[in-house]
Amino acid sequence: MYYKNLQDFLSGTGHVINGKWYPRVTSIINIKAKPALLRFYGEAKSFNAAQEITNNSATEGTKVHNAIEAILKNEEPEKDPETLAAVKAFNDFSQLHAVKIDGGAVEKQIWSPKHGFAGTIDILGEVDGEFGVLDIKTSSGIWRDYNLQTAAYFGALLEDEPWGEVVKKEVRGRWILRIDQQRVCQLCGAKKRTKGGNIRVRGGVSSCYHEWSDLIGEWEFKKLENFESDYEAFLAAKRLWEWENEEWLKQIK
Ligand SMILES: [Zn+2]
Repeated sequence: MYYKNLQDFLSGTGHVINGKWYPRVTSIINIKAKPALLRFYGEAKSFNAAQEITNNSATEGTKVHNAIEAILKNEEPEKDPETLAAVKAFNDFSQLHAVKIDGGAVEKQIWSPKHGFAGTIDILGEVDGEFGVLDIKTSSGIWRDYNLQTAAYFGALLEDEPWGEVVKKEVRGRWILRIDQQRVCQLCGAKKRTKGGNIRVRGGVSSCYHEWSDLIGEWEFKKLENFESDYEAFLAAKRLWEWENEEWLKQIK
């Protein structure tokens, strides 16, 4: 990554909490190579086109996050045709798994004074009776990077920090809930996923002229195990990230 100056680096990769700057968990994890991302950039019309798709898709992801978080806070989610199917998928998921914010929080900022990183947990709450970290994803799969991200949050929560009123319960679990929406061809079963304006058709018959359904939501839920190993890997990634950025980090007083 290119940064113009120290200020650009600091605001681009972290934020200040209680007067101290911490790098963001998501910035740190970016040090890890992502082969799927290379492919995506390679297939895009141009670098700028790929960036635009990424930005649009982040906006769509935020809308889905907001809708789900509103439901968990017992608020009415915004009626948006773009998130209707995702909201339905979340409600379907809720029929099978109990998610409660009891004693937790939504969009909870956490940090690790011990290891020096900060992040924001989507949902800190109870899932099927166990308290912990639930991260919502709108990706097309559950990627291994999420193990690192949630391990960082979990590790910070284990530290003896005054987290305020919210974390008085013992953190036990880490989960990923992936919510996605796509259209299905009524004739050949192909699936069409539109993300950030980018259209991808998978499966089905290529000669079919496709009759697409309305958006259909889907969900995938995974409990992550092996925290110790994931946290060790995250801290190793953090060390590599620090090495990569040592010229900037040296300038912080
Ligand atoms: Zn078709």
